[in-house]
Amino acid sequence: MAPRPTHTKFIFVTGGVVSSIGKGITAASTAAILEARGLKVSLLKMDPYLNVDPGTMNPFQHGEVFVTDDGAETDLDLGHYERFTSATMGRVNSVSSGQIYETVINRERQGAYLGGTVQVIPHITDEVKARILKAAEGLDVCIIEVGGTVGDIEGLPFLEAIRQMRQQYGVENTAFMHVTYVPFIRTADELKTKPTQHSVNALREIGVQPDIIVCRSEKPMPPEVKRKISLFCSVPAENVIAAVDAQSVYELPIAFKEEGLDQRLCDQLGIWAREARLADWKRIVEGVRITDPEVTIHVVGKYVDLKESYKSLSEALLHGGIANRCKVRLHFIEAEDLEGDADIDAVLYGGDGILVPGGFGSRGTEGKIRAVEFARTRGVPFLGICLGLQMATVEYSRNVCGMTDANSTEFMPDSTHPVVDLLPEQRGVTDKGATMRLGAYPCELLPDSLAARLYGATSISERHRHRYEVNNDFVGELVAKGLTISGLHTGERAGQAARLPDGRNGLVEIIELPGHPFFIASQFHPEYKSRPKSPHPLFRGFIEAALANAGSRKAR
Ligand code: GLN
Repeated sequence: MAPRPTHTKFIFVTGGVVSSIGKGITAASTAAILEARGLKVSLLKMDPYLNVDPGTMNPFQHGEVFVTDDGAETDLDLGHYERFTSATMGRVNSVSSGQIYETVINRERQGAYLGGTVQVIPHITDEVKARILKAAEGLDVCIIEVGGTVGDIEGLPFLEAIRQMRQQYGVENTAFMHVTYVPFIRTADELKTKPTQHSVNALREIGVQPDIIVCRSEKPMPPEVKRKISLFCSVPAENVIAAVDAQSVYELPIAFKEEGLDQRLCDQLGIWAREARLADWKRIVEGVRITDPEVTIHVVGKYVDLKESYKSLSEALLHGGIANRCKVRLHFIEAEDLEGDADIDAVLYGGDGILVPGGFGSRGTEGKIRAVEFARTRGVPFLGICLGLQMATVEYSRNVCGMTDANSTEFMPDSTHPVVDLLPEQRGVTDKGATMRLGAYPCELLPDSLAARLYGATSISERHRHRYEVNNDFVGELVAKGLTISGLHTGERAGQAARLPDGRNGLVEIIELPGHPFFIASQFHPEYKSRPKSPHPLFRGFIEAALANAGSRKAR
């Protein structure tokens, strides 16, 4: 096992009582205030499930799959980590039990443990520790979030590994932060600490005594409640940190500083650093609180009941609002509601902009195509993402170029106009895990296009997660009928690409419609790279156009 990096401090975040209490946001906000002290901070998510990555997991169960520059399909918490810090996440920042077991079992197959019995302790726990040390290289502080809730069977090897790290590196180099829920019981008019006591007990049974307890609650926490938790859970009262429900998650770094969280951590870990500078976060919170003017964005997708599956997207739209100093109201529309004899005008009534996000599977695709048509023909600002670009391409092929059966071969394998299709190299792929076009690819923008204006650049890099591409056999026709291809991937994988009429060569990355107030779609997912401190140009531009549309709608 590698020695501890010379100066890195470790903060372990565990969760108790119930899931979904914002452990990821808590870890990310802690990173934010430590970064605001000038420290180099990053995070690592350890997920107890046995899937090797969440790429093939159902969004209903798992929420969004977040994609990193280096093409890892990860838990949505990595999105929080990037949005709250300036760190860039990669493969090393996400570890699942499945990956740990895969590594250990492969090693066993190769004979590395010859003669030995391979066991959870020490082999699995050693691998967990090795991954933590790898993620921590070069950092002042590494925050490790253990997924799941204390008491879960699957989480035990992770908890055992972090217990050992405390033993090895000492209390001055490791801090245990436990996030719990303190429910407000209306009939008693009281915040109840018992669940927190139980969960701390469960943690102690496996040898972990928390140093800091972060208490999520819907009401402010009176000092006597903190004192009670302090007494029963053996932590100093100042180390009981209240995390009261806020209007926006971006208020948390400021709230944590007011609770003294960063100071408590620095005291324990012997970190000498300046006071946290939170001016940026204050500006973000101000921006989020703006209620007037307001724009309404219709997001036409699937899984619309499950907001978590569009997490980065919702955040990026919010960032677009911060950039334009307006409130963004999101209206999620089930694409199927636009199909058949639906009254499209009625369903899409009152929207200032239409967004068709990424997606898989044929359900709702015809409704998405109708939403694109509505936006294109009515001059409503439109942003299409991934499947959104593919549907916009199909719509244009059918309704402008007259290819009536145009479709993606994902949904109609025998279409005579397969305007969206697999690349030859994807045709033979049968494995579903990690075989898509994943991660960052460079993209060249057409000078003077809307895309180039928005980005203020002509070379960009954006993240992908898809299998299908615009079929270059049809690009000539689309361009002849007025569609602009404003973004192209000209590098690796573009080999099979047909030549554009203007001589450029590559895979279609961005399409736009000149003469329309704002109509743009990208094959990549811009939402993954939007941060509150640097809202993404496509979302900034989209919300700006929607705001202008709202203004003119009001004037009419
Ligand atoms: N299903 C489409 C593809 O695989 C789009 C994927 C997406 O929108 N992320 O290409």
